[in-house]
Amino acid sequence: MQNTKLKAAVQERPFILDPLYRSVTALPGVGPRGAKLIERLCDGERLWDLLCHAPTDVVERTHIESPVEADSGKVVIVDVNVHEYSIGRKRNVPSRIHCVAGDAQMDLVFFHAREDYLKKNFPIGGTKQISGTLAFYRGRAQITHPDFATSKNEEGVFEKVEPVYPMTQGLGHKVLRKAILNALEQAPELDEWQDPSVIKARGWDKWRESLLALHHPMSESMVALDHKARLRLAYDEMLAHQLALTLIRRAQQKAKGRAFTGISGALRSQFLQNIPFTLTGAQQRVISEIDEDMISPLAMVRLVQGDVGSGKTMVACAAMLNAVECGAQAALMAPTEILARQHGESLGPLFDKLGVRYVVLTGRDKGKAKELLLSQVQNGAAQIVIGTHALFQEKVAFQDLGLAVIDEQHRFGVQQRLQLSQKGVSDVLVMTATPIPRTLALTAYGDMDVSRIDEKPAGRKPIDTRLLPKSKLEGMVAGLIRQIKEEKAQIYWVCPLVEDSEVLDLAAAEERFDVLQSFLGDRVGLVHGRMKAEDKDAVMKKFAAGDLDILVATTVIEVGVNVPNASIMVIEHAERFGLAQLHQLRGRVGRGERQSHCMLLYSTPISETGKARLKIMRDTEDGFLIAEEDMRLRGVGDILGTRQSGLADYMLADLSAHGELIAMARDEAQLIVQRDPRLTSERGQALKNLLYLFNLKEALSNLRSG
Ligand code: ADP
Ligand code: MG
Repeated sequence: MQNTKLKAAVQERPFILDPLYRSVTALPGVGPRGAKLIERLCDGERLWDLLCHAPTDVVERTHIESPVEADSGKVVIVDVNVHEYSIGRKRNVPSRIHCVAGDAQMDLVFFHAREDYLKKNFPIGGTKQISGTLAFYRGRAQITHPDFATSKNEEGVFEKVEPVYPMTQGLGHKVLRKAILNALEQAPELDEWQDPSVIKARGWDKWRESLLALHHPMSESMVALDHKARLRLAYDEMLAHQLALTLIRRAQQKAKGRAFTGISGALRSQFLQNIPFTLTGAQQRVISEIDEDMISPLAMVRLVQGDVGSGKTMVACAAMLNAVECGAQAALMAPTEILARQHGESLGPLFDKLGVRYVVLTGRDKGKAKELLLSQVQNGAAQIVIGTHALFQEKVAFQDLGLAVIDEQHRFGVQQRLQLSQKGVSDVLVMTATPIPRTLALTAYGDMDVSRIDEKPAGRKPIDTRLLPKSKLEGMVAGLIRQIKEEKAQIYWVCPLVEDSEVLDLAAAEERFDVLQSFLGDRVGLVHGRMKAEDKDAVMKKFAAGDLDILVATTVIEVGVNVPNASIMVIEHAERFGLAQLHQLRGRVGRGERQSHCMLLYSTPISETGKARLKIMRDTEDGFLIAEEDMRLRGVGDILGTRQSGLADYMLADLSAHGELIAMARDEAQLIVQRDPRLTSERGQALKNLLYLFNLKEALSNLRSG
């Protein structure tokens, strides 16, 4: 009921933003396939999403009269006169078009080109303007596969400085560039939402001009993260996020959170009696911090940081049982289906014993079965709901959601926060193994409190970690097979991303799978990202049940999987992983009684830093130390700026480069809300546009309660 009221309060989107909301399919030259690729690349299919795809480099094209003026490797623009052809008739012999440029000879080289195509496009005696990378072959200048070749000296055919964008397989750079240029043309002038004095002090341009500058760099320095156009756009985004957060926070303060009172703790103590261990001191401390939040009438937003294996799930259960005992529902959101199912399987029997009713709901549930689950969530029959991000979706209505727990690596940006607040939940717990510096967590997520589980369950044996060159692989396999036969060891075998191509990754994993199968037959299983969820589950289940000795996997096992009997982790091409990721992976073993091992295979030659990084892994198991070292070696951006951390969810801002702007944006947002709580002033209207741009329109529903 509350939901519909909130939705009604959301104003219609201002017309002026319509062009930016158009789908990229509306652009000339972008078909359904291209649109799909753009959507994957830009994480959205609006023109605005496309325009937020920033270039990371530039190609500068130099005009030359003759190839003698330039060096090999330069990207040049040059006029050539076509003299004659030599057509390559054999497979690996290219066709050459002999030309003259200025006072020198120069060839255009084409592999696998059709003769009629060449003759039509490069008629003898004609003049062409060519651009491409200059090379010298046997003393003769040549350009292989020119980027452009045009007859007229048309202005604007070549971009003298062409931005280079991060790409995805299957999408051509020219297609993307053209789409971006066409999208730029549709970008409207928007009223200024920033404080003019800030803009002036920083020397920033208007929003639209900054956007144009972003996509029309004149030099390499203009695509840098600290260029003023990028800074302005990043600051816009940060202000949007901070404004949304401030509005939510303010509404929460007025609305009063929920006080979970009258908890006897009976349900929880019964639960704790049923598990075969006692909680660590750190777990108990964090649970009591959560208890205090839940009892208080203020809304809880708490981040629980704990290394892999520190036992975050038990903490989540303790909190959820609080909510259940008060008659409310609790939700546990896992980052993957596998993990959601696994939580269901391991926690389910414990909930059953207490008579607590739970359901597991993931994106895979379809049709009647799904409807049944949804109705149980809606009518309150389900007291605990375990699921994936599907739970954020609009269709999932809760009867009375009191607590939401978000398990590691989920994105939990402002957007998710807004979606949750739409579901009426007051208390939120986010659990992560990523050690985010406290200050950053506080500024980026505003009002989050932080708890740390800084102690591991007793009796864990250190994992014996070894570094091995890939050449030792065969000998290692022999040793592993012995351990399987003699000690019933179970092994995870991780094949990493080889290239930015799922197909190739899969090929590598399948090849390894075949080799291992030749030794162990059907005692080897394979899971990878392209499998159907049911099939993935089936394989994981077999491994968990001990019916498989080796589980070959691409990185899908990364998060949270728990098979205590598995004691050996093999990681191929370990040098290609981030340390945090290696740490996560290694954390899958060392969960049971037996001595665990981790084999990090690397290919040679390996760089000094590469080796140094792997040595850190060998020498410590402390996730915080590893993260610190990782940041030192790779820079904070790789850890926090990417979506991997699950917390940062920016399109244009990058915490590593724009971190200092966050505090500024937060202060500005607070000032805005103090002065104009309903955003009714002229600037307030402009700020509404800003919220719409960054998909934060739900924040506007908080205006009415102000
Ligand atoms: P993570 O923090 O990585 O999510 P989990 O919650 O999956 O860790 O816990 C890892 C393993 O440790 C699980 O098998 C869990 O049952 C077990 N565990 C949790 N707390 C304790 C404890 N206090 N003593 C012993 N084992 C524990
Ligand atoms: Mg976990």
